Amino acid sequence: MKTKPLTSKRTLATLSGAYGALALGFRSYPALASVIWIKDELFEYLQGWGRPNHVALTFDDGPDPISTPLILDELRRLEIKATFFMLGSMAEAYPYVAQQVAEDGHEIALHGHWHKNHLFRSTRTIRYDMERSLETVTNATGVRPLYFRPPYGVLTEGTLRTARDLSLRPVLWGAWGRDWRAKATPIQVLNDLKKRFKPGVTVLLHDSDCTSYPGSFRSTLGALEAFTNLCEQHSLSVGPLREHGF
Ligand SMILES: [Zn+2]
Repeated sequence: MKTKPLTSKRTLATLSGAYGALALGFRSYPALASVIWIKDELFEYLQGWGRPNHVALTFDDGPDPISTPLILDELRRLEIKATFFMLGSMAEAYPYVAQQVAEDGHEIALHGHWHKNHLFRSTRTIRYDMERSLETVTNATGVRPLYFRPPYGVLTEGTLRTARDLSLRPVLWGAWGRDWRAKATPIQVLNDLKKRFKPGVTVLLHDSDCTSYPGSFRSTLGALEAFTNLCEQHSLSVGPLREHGF
């Protein structure tokens, strides 16, 4: 399925132009979380809605030497591919895990270097963080990422400008499993995913607990089979963003 080109100058101009209409919303996502809300159609674009017979499965915060290999094993058993939004700091520390994700045929994407909220950072610092992570993740995996998801889903004008300059498309999510919480269980993760489960949705989960409650990845792991069954029941295929047709 052909995907739209990377964030073009026109797209960025549109997004930047939307700043006049910006409002700030807050969500309870791992710590202090906030999302910049923009016009509906642009927010839909950022949420990564794709073709109506497909669900994009994405993981944040890896590669992690303990949890990521377990997630990879489960994805192999379920015969599905996903997109991994990697942290540069984790890829730097565990390049062999990052490499394994790529070798398993999953899509490599970018989540920044240090997992800092862009809302409180200068454009210069954001640019340094994104450039450093792009170089680190590309070197570790041999793949140049095409997509970027900012930590906590916080997008600023500096984020968008840097993403444009680095030819990275910003992608947030349409549904999440809230799998970072201490109280997370496989059933709760599945139920949370169901709340906003629609054809074409981009799903957010985590393959690492490095910014979450220790061990929370086990709930993610435990929910994956039921999640794929849910997609099958709705005749939806599961795959990475490169197959999402958006
Ligand atoms: Zn994250």
